[in-house]
Amino acid sequence: MYHILITDDLGTAGLALLDQATDVQFEVVRLPDRQQLLERIGAYDAIITRSGTPLTAEIFQAATRLKIAGRAGVGLDNVDIDAATQRGILVINTPEANTLAATEMTMALLLALCRHLPWADASIKRGEWTRSKFLGAELHGKTLGVIGLGRIGSRVAWRCHAFGMRVLAYDPYIAEEIAERAHAQLVGDLDELLTQADVITVHTPLTDETRGMIGAAQIARMKPGARVVNCARGGIVDEQALYDGLVAGKLAGAALDAYSTEPPRTDLLRQLLALHNVIASPHIGANTVEAQHAVAVQIVTQVLDALRGVNYSNVVNLPFVEGLDYRAIQPYLTLAEKIGALQMQLVRGRIERVEVECRGEPIEQWVKPLTVALLRGLLYPILREAVNYVNAPRLADERGITVSQTRHPVAEGYSNVLLCRVVSSQETRLVGGALFLRDQPRIVLLDNFRIDALPAGCALVMLSRDVPGVMGQIGTLLGKHGINIAHWHMGREAPGQRQLSFINIDTLAAEPVVAELIAQPMVLDVRQVTL
Ligand code: NAD
Repeated sequence: MYHILITDDLGTAGLALLDQATDVQFEVVRLPDRQQLLERIGAYDAIITRSGTPLTAEIFQAATRLKIAGRAGVGLDNVDIDAATQRGILVINTPEANTLAATEMTMALLLALCRHLPWADASIKRGEWTRSKFLGAELHGKTLGVIGLGRIGSRVAWRCHAFGMRVLAYDPYIAEEIAERAHAQLVGDLDELLTQADVITVHTPLTDETRGMIGAAQIARMKPGARVVNCARGGIVDEQALYDGLVAGKLAGAALDAYSTEPPRTDLLRQLLALHNVIASPHIGANTVEAQHAVAVQIVTQVLDALRGVNYSNVVNLPFVEGLDYRAIQPYLTLAEKIGALQMQLVRGRIERVEVECRGEPIEQWVKPLTVALLRGLLYPILREAVNYVNAPRLADERGITVSQTRHPVAEGYSNVLLCRVVSSQETRLVGGALFLRDQPRIVLLDNFRIDALPAGCALVMLSRDVPGVMGQIGTLLGKHGINIAHWHMGREAPGQRQLSFINIDTLAAEPVVAELIAQPMVLDVRQVTL
């Protein structure tokens, strides 16, 4: 018998599935407090939650027989994944169940915005009959700009094409064929989309790169009278800039389902939502009967499959390989993810090929799971929780990335080294990593440079001329901006040629600081990364 604890509302279809399972006993304890959960969790093989139950390290510590933590939904903010991983507990979510709900919500917002529906409805309910006030705009013949052409973005594109729109899409991480299938024309840079689109809709996750990606400068480049929809995550569209653009009359309207603060109770958000041309909904993109049903059925099916050992779908934290010694491989998985994440943040252009090479004992035998971990690390900066160890190869494939793996029994210079070459439309970059003292990840090779860098936290990867005073000048400049240097590792080609510095810093450098670094005469290139 598998014992399962349900701690949040789970759709009746999910409960019915559990009822029918002859090898399951389950209990529903709605939103238990910390103490209740600590006392009970030791009795269960699996727990199914939504966002209301924090699954902390302390809870996982007490969960002595727990094998699976199922999250009905996509966000994993309430789950300490590292703690679960350390205890060998699989964390499973349902990233795909609400795709259609969010797609249709976007369509609803687009249409309501163009036809003034909320205001027309309010007006007639006040007893008015003022048809001329609600002169709408048609989607047909207009240009849609989709930012982020993933599951939802591509479905929105497809539907808007059917409405007779011309669809432009900006997504630097997907292949041309994906865009073609969605009837969208892929543009090389965001400006191209901003200057042509009548309606702009964002469908990216919230990442360091996408936070504020529609700001004042981007709104300034839009067509006068453009409309903006954010049914993805709050913060992708800068709310102050949006407010200013609407008040100035540059934008005709905006529709929002997600906010940087939820509920949206800041002064700025109150003012923004009070504008006559803003439609707002309380983050209900996933709220449909069908999506809730799909989430419940999917999470129960996935948890039961994993408990029974028949299938492992949407496992967020473990690559499933029969007989894998998880404790032994775990530090190498972390290293592989760090190498992937570093490559994604370093390389310019669209990634076309990833070559993974495992050299030396013991990693030579683990080339497959380490490649999966590397791909997860590579895609994580752009896809966040949507990418896991199970779907990372498929998501890479969907982005037109070819992956090759090779193994070699001997590593030169180290007992083992994990190498990753990434070929993009613009350049080729090589990153090598090794473990020091069995569990300390290090970057030991960056392109032509041998280094010994710590892949943790924020870092500046700086290419410069090998001249005296680099450390002094750069250190002073960072100090002037209050940025503390934690470690500085350097490698150089030959005296007087080029040197590469990997500078770990305690806080992220703001964009103007990075620009100031790049402007230094001896500096050739700077990339800021978070690992
Ligand atoms: P997805 O992972 O399938 O697609 C995201 C796409 O964004 C990917 O193709 C990725 O390459 C692209 N991307 C990443 N960084 C980018 C950048 N800097 N510029 C351009 N493109 C970039 O995700 P999805 O399932 O389609 O979800 C999209 C968004 O919708 C997510 O933020 C998700 O949280 C949100 N969402 C909201 C609701 C809601 O209730 N409103 C419901 C479901 C999903």
